[in-house]
Amino acid sequence: TTTPTALPTDETIAGLLDDGFRACGVDASVLAPDAATGVTLTARSPITGQVLATLAADSPATASAKIGHAAVAFESWRDVPAPVRGQLVARWGQLLAEHKEELAKIVTVEAGKTPSEAAGEVQEMIDICEFALGQSRQLWGKTMPSERPGHRLMETWHPLGVVGVISAFNFPVAVYSWNTALALVAGDAVVWKPSENAVLAALGAQSLLARAAAEVGAPDGLVPVLIGGRDIGDAMVRDDRVALVSATGSVRMGREVGPVVAERFGRVLLELGGNNGAIVAPSADIDLALRGVVFAAAGTAGQRCTTLRRLIVHESIAEAFVERIVAAYRTLSIGSPTEDGVLVGPLISEAAYEAMQEALRQAEDEGGEVLVGGGRVLAEERPDAHYVEPAVVQMPAQTPVMESETFAPILYVVTYSDLDEAIAIHNAVPQGLSSAIFTSDLAEAETFLSRSDCGIANVNIGTSGAEIGGAFGGEKETGGGRESGSDSWKAYMRQATNTINYSGELPLAQGVEFL
Ligand code: NAD
Repeated sequence: TTTPTALPTDETIAGLLDDGFRACGVDASVLAPDAATGVTLTARSPITGQVLATLAADSPATASAKIGHAAVAFESWRDVPAPVRGQLVARWGQLLAEHKEELAKIVTVEAGKTPSEAAGEVQEMIDICEFALGQSRQLWGKTMPSERPGHRLMETWHPLGVVGVISAFNFPVAVYSWNTALALVAGDAVVWKPSENAVLAALGAQSLLARAAAEVGAPDGLVPVLIGGRDIGDAMVRDDRVALVSATGSVRMGREVGPVVAERFGRVLLELGGNNGAIVAPSADIDLALRGVVFAAAGTAGQRCTTLRRLIVHESIAEAFVERIVAAYRTLSIGSPTEDGVLVGPLISEAAYEAMQEALRQAEDEGGEVLVGGGRVLAEERPDAHYVEPAVVQMPAQTPVMESETFAPILYVVTYSDLDEAIAIHNAVPQGLSSAIFTSDLAEAETFLSRSDCGIANVNIGTSGAEIGGAFGGEKETGGGRESGSDSWKAYMRQATNTINYSGELPLAQGVEFL
């Protein structure tokens, strides 16, 4: 039904990676396996399935040493005035702007994103650097009236320590910058454990930051990167020198990480899976809703935490609207994101493909009908790459398959008859990241905004594509953390309440008498 396009050669992909590495100044020696520890990590491109590199990985011992070094760097970084710390993120932002296209090439090669989406991800990094620079002069606290005469009560915000960032493959560089730009102006050191599926993009992003750090004279070892899989992430999570663990990934990961950090009374910021829904009301602008739905559901091959997975359409418009979605899906070009006009790239791995097929089987068992897509394409050309046609599945009701996140392009459709029912369906899943309503009715829009149980609730735009200025994150199994804009910076600092007595007397609070 849809048109797969030709795939590039291994050499083309290797050339893109090389361009990116050179522009970002990644030390090519990282690609040589480390004879000393013998631990390696293999990087692949989902576009072709080819092996890109075999890297020296960290062992628990080298990870521990880097964390120790970051803890020492923190001791001097915390004393640099915040507006001066802002100069580090300002310089990082400039370098990212200069090398935007090249860093985006690594993201395309390793995460399979289209050049436009990969460049958009780097743009988000540039945006958060600008935001954090401004924030560096606004780490403010409140002053409160004291109940005692001649006293002042105020809050102050202080650097937290070493922040450990764990990130997922699908936003391999932007999520790092959301955390890091704010943590650095807050006065923290940042240890990064990127996804094992996106380690080369991580090296690109971190090399530019390391260059900026050297240029502004930041202490050595302030922003190390740990190369490795879950075991290295786990070593970092258990390390009590890491004051805050900010972890982005699946609910499964959050269930493992959360209790470990809680047990040592560390802080945790969790950004976990979503299972995002959109309601399309009878009064919706249908052309706009169509574009919003198709981008949110099929864009990035369904591999965004904010991807639209559940469409809740009013029964009076469902048939005609779903027909138009199906027609739009048939025009999506699937293939290598390096080719012009391709909108849907590969899934990250064979496991992701298998999970999608399993979900489709379960949906059919639960009474669903696949209206379009679901099949694999380009398998003969590249057996190790996994391209799929995005699927739309009409469901009889919100059945169990719709209650968990399958990280692939499947859009389940259910119908509703009144708004209360639609919102009840919407909220009846364990995750709570992003949500949307398409409507021209003000009362419906406001009702939805007040009752959606998600961290993000939109009107007349899809569930994906957040801006950095707002706080990003979700409720329930999504983990409750907030990153990026608004006052998310507070997560990277600790708050102190200070009482100053200039009265010359010692009155006690609540009128207590003593001595
Ligand atoms: P994943 O959970 O498999 O891995 C994410 C990261 O966690 C990786 O770096 C991995 O090495 C690490 N990790 C896994 N188990 C760990 C453990 N026990 N201890 C320490 N580290 C551990 O996720 P993925 O497949 O890379 O990414 C897709 C998932 O991420 C989806 O569920 C998606 O919704 C979610 N995601 C959420 C957000 C958000 O902001 N809420 C953003 C992007 C992705």
